[in-house]
Amino acid sequence: MSVLNISPIRAFSDNYIWLITRENEAYVVDPGEPEPVTRALDAASLRLAGILVTHHHFDHTGAVKALKEASGCDVWGPPDSPAGPYDHIVAEGSTVSVLGEDFSVLAVPGHTLDHIAYYSRGEQALFCGDTLFVGGCGRVFEGTPPQMRASLSKLTQLPADTRVFCAHEYTLANLHFAQLVEPDNADLSRFLSACEKRRQNNQPTVPSLIGDELAYNPFLRWDSPAVRQTLADAGRLIEDTPDGVFTAVREWKNNA
Ligand code: ZN
Ligand code: FE
Repeated sequence: MSVLNISPIRAFSDNYIWLITRENEAYVVDPGEPEPVTRALDAASLRLAGILVTHHHFDHTGAVKALKEASGCDVWGPPDSPAGPYDHIVAEGSTVSVLGEDFSVLAVPGHTLDHIAYYSRGEQALFCGDTLFVGGCGRVFEGTPPQMRASLSKLTQLPADTRVFCAHEYTLANLHFAQLVEPDNADLSRFLSACEKRRQNNQPTVPSLIGDELAYNPFLRWDSPAVRQTLADAGRLIEDTPDGVFTAVREWKNNA
């Protein structure tokens, strides 16, 4: 059972900086802005003990330097990162102890080439930055669509009850797009209604669960006959392979 407390700190217009706490100690994941983090730490009298970085983009790293200087904490992040070097360079197979709990590092290139994720079996928690979103996935900026699909595929191998702590609240836009790709998916309609209620109450839709993402996220449904049919009917399926399906869905969303 999980022992760490995990809660969102809102930043910019739609980022979540994840705050991980145990007693009065805290880690943050992907701090793009310092002020909301400092406010959250002060409000709960927390000491910042560490920072985890998933990838180099400014909305995930913009506050690393200021928070490190203010707290003296260490920073973990990927190798060959334009925002690095970090105090601790971690890659696929590395383990990071976060307030006493082990997280393993997964290499998930695609959105950026340096992108990594942090996963804890014990905490049933995945911090995946801009790789997997609720109902969507990150844009493929630096890698290739097959590389991104391989990274997402790796995340789908995690246990179904794994909580997906992604870095943006993009859910409603993602699920509306998902309905174009798979109009008859009942799991998707149900989940969209639940998320709309949460957003009306100004609550986060994150985290979701890996097992649920497999049922409604069009970027993970490259094997779905319904998705392949929609793409084929729309003249969007150039190659009927998993990579071809993923590429076609990503292209469609890019231009939607
Ligand atoms: Zn990013
Ligand atoms: Fe981002």
